[in-house]
Amino acid sequence: MSLLKKEQHHMTDFTGLKLAQPLLRAIADEGYTTPTPIQLKSIPPLLEGRDLLGVAQTGTGKTASFALPLLHRLSSNGSKPESRKPRALILAPTRELAGQINDSFRSYGRHMHLRSTVVFGGASIRPQIKTLAQGVHILVATPGRLIDLMNQGHLRLDDVEVFILDEADRMLDMGFIPDVKKIAAKLPVNRQTVLFSATMPKTIQGLADGLLKDPVQVEVAPAATTVDKIEQRVLFVAKDNKRSLLGELMSDAEIARVLIFTRTKHGADRVAKHLHQSGILSDAIHGNKSQNARQRALNSFRSGKVRALVATD
Ligand code: AMP
Repeated sequence: MSLLKKEQHHMTDFTGLKLAQPLLRAIADEGYTTPTPIQLKSIPPLLEGRDLLGVAQTGTGKTASFALPLLHRLSSNGSKPESRKPRALILAPTRELAGQINDSFRSYGRHMHLRSTVVFGGASIRPQIKTLAQGVHILVATPGRLIDLMNQGHLRLDDVEVFILDEADRMLDMGFIPDVKKIAAKLPVNRQTVLFSATMPKTIQGLADGLLKDPVQVEVAPAATTVDKIEQRVLFVAKDNKRSLLGELMSDAEIARVLIFTRTKHGADRVAKHLHQSGILSDAIHGNKSQNARQRALNSFRSGKVRALVATD
């Protein structure tokens, strides 16, 4: 009985995943005890060197699912990095995401001797050039700055063994697909390729077909984001009665601060106006408002000056 229990424990534990000891130590340092579903599905095939197409959103643990196998692979041949020639390239759509991915590599690789860096636009290029010249194993980048660095001769992709494309659908939204294709054309044909996307529009499927060889496909449902402290209810109501229902809910003085989501920007303005007319201090926040106006609305909501904030997602 106890043996069986132990077996089952190992099935879900990280130690069952055949990762190098320094990685298991870093995982323990992070306080992770159990791999997330995307990690359970992705890590074994990636350790085998397979290509992978992953449908997963932020919050599912997808970063570790590609970062851990990559670190494992590079650690088994952790020679000093060559100047300007990284062995792994990770492309991300935004500098925030690129920075977070590099932070993850640093955390998970803290007991290893692999070097990583991140390059993105809007920051000075000189330190990036210097770091690349000193050599890194792992390079995280946004597409535009990567192409600049390549064109200026500060970077070559001939030694890239692993290519990872993160949040591919967002790359598409931001118009980066031509850049991604330009970069992919410079990569060695023999490589491991990983593509993660929250959604799979046709263009991304087409991109995946061109980049990946016989990929394993993994998919997970979006991470649950409910908070225990929040009681959730769904009220079915006819459209015409929505305003009076909202008024009724708001008449509960216990509800000190209310966040209301609407589908459209116009809807947000209308609801805020209606609340205001009923004597409830409220403001709207959405993409048509200036950054200043949005910040002001958030501040008044935070300080309690307005009771209701109406927003689009
Ligand atoms: P990601 O989806 O990669 O952005 O990860 C979301 C968050 O989950 C990050 O803050 C990670 O540090 C955390 N995380 C990733 N894997 C695990 C795990 N196995 N156990 C607990 N937390 C994790």
